[in-house]
Amino acid sequence: MPRPKGSVYDGVACSIDGCPRPARKRGWCLRHYKAWERNGDPVAINDFFLRTPSQRFWGMVAPADANECWLWMGTKTVAGYGMFRRTTAHRFAYEDMIAPIPENLTLDHLCRTRGCVNPYHLDPCPREENARRARAAAAAV
Ligand SMILES: [Zn+2]
Ligand SMILES: [Zn+2]
Repeated sequence: MPRPKGSVYDGVACSIDGCPRPARKRGWCLRHYKAWERNGDPVAINDFFLRTPSQRFWGMVAPADANECWLWMGTKTVAGYGMFRRTTAHRFAYEDMIAPIPENLTLDHLCRTRGCVNPYHLDPCPREENARRARAAAAAV
C-alpha cells in the first residue's frame, strides 16, 4: 500500500527550540504556525504556557480599585463562582495573595458578589458559619 502523500517536512521536527511536534508549515508545527498566523509571532503561544498559574489567573480578573469587587472573567459555575485549575477562583486568589486556606474553612464573600475574587472581600470561616451568614443575608433582602 502506498503511504498517503505527506508534506515536504515529513519527519522533521518543528524548528522552534524545544518543540517536539512535527513541522508542517514554514518549518513549524501546526500549533506554532497557527500562533504565527494569529499573532505574527510563532512563539507568542509559548509565552502563554510559560506564564505561571498566578500570572494567568490575574490576567482573567477585571481591573478595579483595591477596595472594589474584582470580577472574574474566566469560566464560572452555574452558581456564579469563578473556576480556576480545579478550584474556585476566589480560593485561588486568596491563597495566592494572602495564605493557604485551612481544610475545614470556606471563604465567605463579605460583599456577597460570587464572581468577586478580591481577597479583602473574603473571610475564611467554618462552613456552618458561612451558611448561617448566607441565610441571614437572604432574610435581610
Ligand atoms: Zn512547534
Ligand atoms: Zn467583592
